[in-house]
Amino acid sequence: MLSTSKTKLLTELLNLESVQVIKYKKLPQVGLILYTEAQSKKATCIRCGNKSQNLHQNHRYLIKDLPISGQSVYLRINRRQFKCDNCGKPFSEELNFVKKRRKYTSRLAMEIVKQVLADDIKTVAQNNDVSAEEIETMLKDKTKELKQEKSSRLKKLRNNDFGNCRPGVLFRLFNYSFSILNHDLLEWEHFHYYIDRF
Ligand SMILES: [Zn+2]
Repeated sequence: MLSTSKTKLLTELLNLESVQVIKYKKLPQVGLILYTEAQSKKATCIRCGNKSQNLHQNHRYLIKDLPISGQSVYLRINRRQFKCDNCGKPFSEELNFVKKRRKYTSRLAMEIVKQVLADDIKTVAQNNDVSAEEIETMLKDKTKELKQEKSSRLKKLRNNDFGNCRPGVLFRLFNYSFSILNHDLLEWEHFHYYIDRF
């Protein structure tokens, strides 16, 4: 069991109103697993709206959440089943951070959708709370690094290969897949030309 101060810190870092972290585990190659429990002993019946604390059974499982400091994060959550004191029927509680039958938090889904829709530096900058200038610097640094690597799988791209590529797609490609592109390293000047057009 974690100390109260550690529990409190992890719960604050997690920043989900309705749950608290009770322990954690770090698994190599997987990430951080945060074990959570509901803050409230009660849940609202989905049929009649009555608040019940008549716990019927626990249903614990893992869902994926936003990463912390570059590490994948999974939450072990408990979607409890209650038996309603009023209408007498069993119900599965609603959790405000994960939809039923989904294995990821709503905030992770939102983040991913935003990034998929982002097709210019400005949007990506806003989503990640960094400036467009910082992103340009990141890209410049990455380009330098890659040039220095002189990896055999990186060779210059023919200008033609970009002719039909939408600038937004190109940008995403470079922003998220720079290091795994297995055939191309674009010259910075050429790349910059595309950034200027966004
Ligand atoms: Zn009910």
